[in-house]
Amino acid sequence: MSILTIEGLSKSFGGVEAVKNVSFTLNEGEFLALIGPNGAGKSTCFNMINGYLKPDKGKLLLQPQESKSRNLVGKKPRQIWRWGVGRTFQITATFASMTVRENVQMALISHHKKSFNLWARASHLDRDQAEQLLEKVSMLDMAGQACSELAYGDLKRLELAIALAHDPKLLLMDEPTAGMAPSERTALMELVAQIVKDQGLSVLFTEHDMDVVFEHADRILVLNRGELIAQGTAEQIRNDALVQEVYLGGGSVFAKETANEAHHAET
Ligand code: ADP
Ligand code: MG
Repeated sequence: MSILTIEGLSKSFGGVEAVKNVSFTLNEGEFLALIGPNGAGKSTCFNMINGYLKPDKGKLLLQPQESKSRNLVGKKPRQIWRWGVGRTFQITATFASMTVRENVQMALISHHKKSFNLWARASHLDRDQAEQLLEKVSMLDMAGQACSELAYGDLKRLELAIALAHDPKLLLMDEPTAGMAPSERTALMELVAQIVKDQGLSVLFTEHDMDVVFEHADRILVLNRGELIAQGTAEQIRNDALVQEVYLGGGSVFAKETANEAHHAET
């Protein structure tokens, strides 16, 4: 069952065809990676899905199980967000002077305001729910800390909790681990993969670290110069000649994997 269907999506900036005739589907509960070199068109794709950019051509259909199919083309970001398409921000979106818990509570209050009557909710319920979300991202012990005191990796986990407070059906994560140390990257992506499994959330994400992508993504799409050049499992993508060519040209991201496999084969 697919939650998002994209057909023939295209976008140019002046003479630059940033996204060319891209088609793919994202399945319910899938952790789908969109990879490709810098300038491949990944962020442009994300920004068309979330309404920040209007496609020149193509179809974007959201099909959440419990409601009718929605055409996203030409819709405002706020509308798309209300329909359950969440995103984590490349620019940090937390309030530094507030505590970790208060930041999540703010998001919950805003979510409840959009979905039903604000006055029907007591704030202590939001507090309990905030703590549940913090537990989900393993930050309950930091609930009382001011955001300004958080390490970068913790801030990213808080942003994830804030995104989850809006109960998204589909979560878009454009480089969620940008600026993080390698160990923090792995930890964050493991956390997201676990949440995807636990609650059947659908996620589309980009990530530079190929080890992380190969280990955690259910399926991988590869963009190059605006075109979708491959899609498949980690195994299929690793062995795809065109993908290897694109990546080998810009420095071998597969070298480590291949070396590992050779090692396993020998032993
Ligand atoms: P990625 O996220 O894969 O690195 P982008 O989607 O950001 O790639 O960019 C794809 C191409 O579109 C690049 O050539 C980039 O320079 C161009 N581009 C992206 N956004 C704009 C914009 N707002 N105006 C002009 N050109 C843009
Ligand atoms: Mg980008």
